[in-house]
Amino acid sequence: MPVSTQDDLLRRERVRLGATPSSKAAAIEEAAQLLIASGCVEPGYAQSMLRREAVANTFLGHGVVIPHGMGEDRHMVRRDGIAVVQVPGGVEWGTGQMAWFIVAIAARGDAHIAILRRLTALMQDGEILAALAVAEDVDEIVAALAGEAPRAAPAAPAADLAHRFDFVVDYPAGLHARPATAWVEAVRQSGLRVQVRHGDEVADGRNLVALLQLGLRAGDRVVVSAEGDDAAAGLARLRARMDSLTAQEVADAAKVAARGTDATRGWTPPGPLAAIEGIGASPGIAIGRLHVVAGGAVEVADVPVSLAEGGARLEAALAATRQQLAVLVDDTARRLGAADAAIFRAQAELLNDSDLITLACQLMVEGHGPAWAWNQAIERMAASLSALGNPVLAGRAADLRDVGRRVLALLDPSAVPGSLRDLPAVPCIVVAEELSPSDTAGLDLTLVVGLATAQGGPTSHTAILARTLGLPALVAGGGALLAAASGQMAILDGAEGRLYLDPPEPAIASAIAWREAMRARQAEAAQQRGAPAVTRDGHRIEIAANVNRPDQVRTALEAGGEGVGLMRTEFLFLERGATPDEDEQEAVYRAMIAALEGRPLIIRALDIGGDKQVAHLGLPREENPFLGVRGARLLLRRPDLLEPQLRAIYRAAMAGGDVSVMFPMVTSASEIVRLRAACERIRAELGAPVLPVGIMIEVPAAAVAADRLAAQCDFLSIGTNDLTQYALAIDRQNPELAAEADSLHPAVLRLIAQTVAGAAKHGRWVGVCGGIAGDPFGAALLAGLGVNELSMTPRDIAAVKARLRGSRFDELRALAARALDAATADEVRALDAGAQR
Ligand code: PEP
Ligand code: MG
Repeated sequence: MPVSTQDDLLRRERVRLGATPSSKAAAIEEAAQLLIASGCVEPGYAQSMLRREAVANTFLGHGVVIPHGMGEDRHMVRRDGIAVVQVPGGVEWGTGQMAWFIVAIAARGDAHIAILRRLTALMQDGEILAALAVAEDVDEIVAALAGEAPRAAPAAPAADLAHRFDFVVDYPAGLHARPATAWVEAVRQSGLRVQVRHGDEVADGRNLVALLQLGLRAGDRVVVSAEGDDAAAGLARLRARMDSLTAQEVADAAKVAARGTDATRGWTPPGPLAAIEGIGASPGIAIGRLHVVAGGAVEVADVPVSLAEGGARLEAALAATRQQLAVLVDDTARRLGAADAAIFRAQAELLNDSDLITLACQLMVEGHGPAWAWNQAIERMAASLSALGNPVLAGRAADLRDVGRRVLALLDPSAVPGSLRDLPAVPCIVVAEELSPSDTAGLDLTLVVGLATAQGGPTSHTAILARTLGLPALVAGGGALLAAASGQMAILDGAEGRLYLDPPEPAIASAIAWREAMRARQAEAAQQRGAPAVTRDGHRIEIAANVNRPDQVRTALEAGGEGVGLMRTEFLFLERGATPDEDEQEAVYRAMIAALEGRPLIIRALDIGGDKQVAHLGLPREENPFLGVRGARLLLRRPDLLEPQLRAIYRAAMAGGDVSVMFPMVTSASEIVRLRAACERIRAELGAPVLPVGIMIEVPAAAVAADRLAAQCDFLSIGTNDLTQYALAIDRQNPELAAEADSLHPAVLRLIAQTVAGAAKHGRWVGVCGGIAGDPFGAALLAGLGVNELSMTPRDIAAVKARLRGSRFDELRALAARALDAATADEVRALDAGAQR
């Protein structure tokens, strides 16, 4: 297994100097791209970093920011790494906060803590930091961050304050930014002077930077001491808060570790084995003989023919290529989906470029042969596109060369060098400088078992297509890869990005065994995920996914989702700086419907307010936003938001699909009557189909009066996140009370039971789309309470289905009855141990 060293963490290629991002979001995107391009994170990580900023600003101070992804997205981190974007002109990070130094972090564990510590040390010296903000040499930055953190020799042995306790850091990822922020908040709330000492180093408990600078790792022992009024009691509360973070940190680490045991983790050879290192682009093990495709230098003989003949041959070759591409578009769309097929549609478009054809004709008029003239035209156009230094245009140049080669192969087959057409008749790993989309899409999958390219990155065409085809692949293997010989035996580990050459027999046997075990596990898991959640005595619970974007639907279905039970449309408004208009919304809803291919889709109308504030809507500030104008209350006051959204939904539904509309934060039946009237008016205006209209049960009043509300709507879906906060009077964002905000509190369960009973009076179905639906024990209880549908984050589906499929419905009902009778959430959770026996 590769060991992350500090050198690995910050590599030169992940430092960008002199950046000029136009906004904070652009700066984050730029930093994320560096992490993505070097294989540290999956492409979606940029969004995760943006979400993190929405939840908590990562400005450290002194112009330094440390954007990183959400804890729940840590599985997107493939390897630990840090990227630095230097913005000499600064970029505004928050009101009055300018950032010059953006240090983006991708970390599964605590390896980055050393860099964080170093960074915070640098922050103590404004001059060094100011110099780094305008440094013109990447090495200066790498050296500054990778060096050892200076440890100021304490002037006197560090002394603790009057009251103290010892604390062993038991957060598996150490004291990283999130728990450290919680410590600071707790210290500030206490009003005490608090000091945290690790050995001789002391940090002020109110100072995030100082705390991070301690560089605490799991297992480190610190002394926390305090002075001030009632210090002993304040310190006890602080300790409780520090302890309360452990459960979440341990759960996060366990999730990361659990994911690490699937195909994303590679094979470990039985003994020392030399390997060519690249970047893992598509996981899995491939075992076979190398087939090295010769480099792309094209030699075209100039064989002049008459102009008439040259013109006719070029025209015929272009027509035949268009035909080939049309077939390829069709085939790729069927095999891999429309998005991948679009590459070839764009290539076909390039063949219609009149400048290109004119240039080729001019060269023929000058007396050159058609193959030579065509190749020259392609090369000149591609070179001028590449010369502009724009990565998008450089991509077009690569496409132009790719499609040009297709035409050339028809004009002069001998000009196109060694290709994938003469594969040996044995399983082989294709090795090439870089593979074009045509190469990859045309692969004979009966022979090709893996791909390894010297160039490219994890987001190159090769990588994307390999992942879609489920073909293990390595990219960026460098020159060593091309020096390998065709026919050599090799093992390719696409998760770790390694190619082992000439492995001995025991290594091959071990790799085969690993591959077979992985296949068996994947087949078993897919079968389990795909099967419905039917209890052992035949009761079925619908399992849906909470998905906001069309491109996430596929993963959700693969995870075992039977439809989308909650599409939070506010993300359409939150993820961009402007309100999407009716057409844009319709396009997204249509794409969702199409991606679901007839499976149910519940579109939740805009739920703005509370924790979801949208600056560009210009809503008035409220003293208590969670108790203010949010959800349905806002929609009823703002027809300019409600009506375009409803029109977009109904217009999209005219194309078919199983679509329902759902309204958030409903309190009273009168609200439903008015919202339904708006739906019906718009539906009638458009001549759209009637759609089921449901409501979310998030307010205790709605749960208690569910029988009245159910009379007015078609279904009810319980938002346990909000229902819990309102029932228990605990702000869902308050970290201090997070452990007490348990959706399995018996009072919340009673509200759920009341909702189910109320809905039953009118024959309505009830779902749950809050977080507890994704907890296997919570799901079991909800099923026992009579809930019909559970909608959750896709990654939770497999475990929930497994739990339900292993249970008996009559036992779940008995379990639910006991839970309703419990006095506390802890008592309810204690029933889990009994239920599992
Ligand atoms: C809920 O409140 O449980 C819910 C699903 O809605 P959101 O988390 O979007 O408020
Ligand atoms: Mg809610």
